Amino acid sequence: MRVFAMTGSATGIGAALKKKLDDRGDRVIGVDIKASDIIADLSTQEGREKAVSGIQKAAPDGLDGFIPVAGLGPTVADFALIVSVNYFGARILIEKVKPLLVKKKGPVVIVSSNSAAFPGLNEDLVRIMLEDNDEQGARRLAKTLDGQNAYAGAKLALTRWMRRIAPAWAAEGIRLNAVAPGATMTPLLQQGLDHPEYGEAIRNFPVPTGGFGTPEQIADGIVFMLGESASFCCGSVLFVDGGSDALLRPDQF
Ligand code: NAD
Repeated sequence: MRVFAMTGSATGIGAALKKKLDDRGDRVIGVDIKASDIIADLSTQEGREKAVSGIQKAAPDGLDGFIPVAGLGPTVADFALIVSVNYFGARILIEKVKPLLVKKKGPVVIVSSNSAAFPGLNEDLVRIMLEDNDEQGARRLAKTLDGQNAYAGAKLALTRWMRRIAPAWAAEGIRLNAVAPGATMTPLLQQGLDHPEYGEAIRNFPVPTGGFGTPEQIADGIVFMLGESASFCCGSVLFVDGGSDALLRPDQF
């Protein structure tokens, strides 16, 4: 039986992914701040340690894959939390579970966002996360920015970090890839739709295939990236966004 660990398993994309893996007979160790096998707050050091020790205990023989899905949207009140959960929570857990992944050559799929490719993001914030690995500095700067900059900046930094380490980790048998969803109907998107500032912008955001994505459509992309069919994918970013990125950046390739 294959054993996967994932974060963000309680709702939305993570819950859809967990169901797909459960349904095909895999064992899934879910980590979330609520309703999961391991309850842990990934914005804190203690929560991350609890998550890692829980995963180590549940999968001593190694992992067939790790998927850090947990994330906060741009509408949360404290923008510092966005960089802590979306960037540091994901990066630190990936680094800590690496020995378990090496044991079984398990791949990692991060959840980016098509907003990571939007122009005009604060590059200082990205640098503080990616180059300096400075969580307190990133939290301080994020508080002075807007939610969209904190959110998309954290996704951009995480995606660049994944691509930078992917070649070296491949030599150890671990494939790292990303899925970059567009607007997907989950509790996170609903918070955006309900927001006085972001709601209208999300409703007007162009999606060539029409409508919002479903959590299952994003989970399908993740399942592909986890599987043997993606065995030659390494450092790739799979946009699952109904064509928004192609519409907005056709020549960025
Ligand atoms: P969601 O809110 O349904 O799921 C997020 C999950 O993360 C929840 O289960 C939540 O409890 C968990 N979580 C939040 N804070 C946490 C913390 N401090 N510690 C542990 N767990 C925590 O939203 P979703 O849309 O399914 O989001 C899943 C991922 O997809 C996120 O990384 C998000 O940024 C990304 N994403 C979503 C969209 C979209 O439109 N929905 C688009 C692009 C990327």
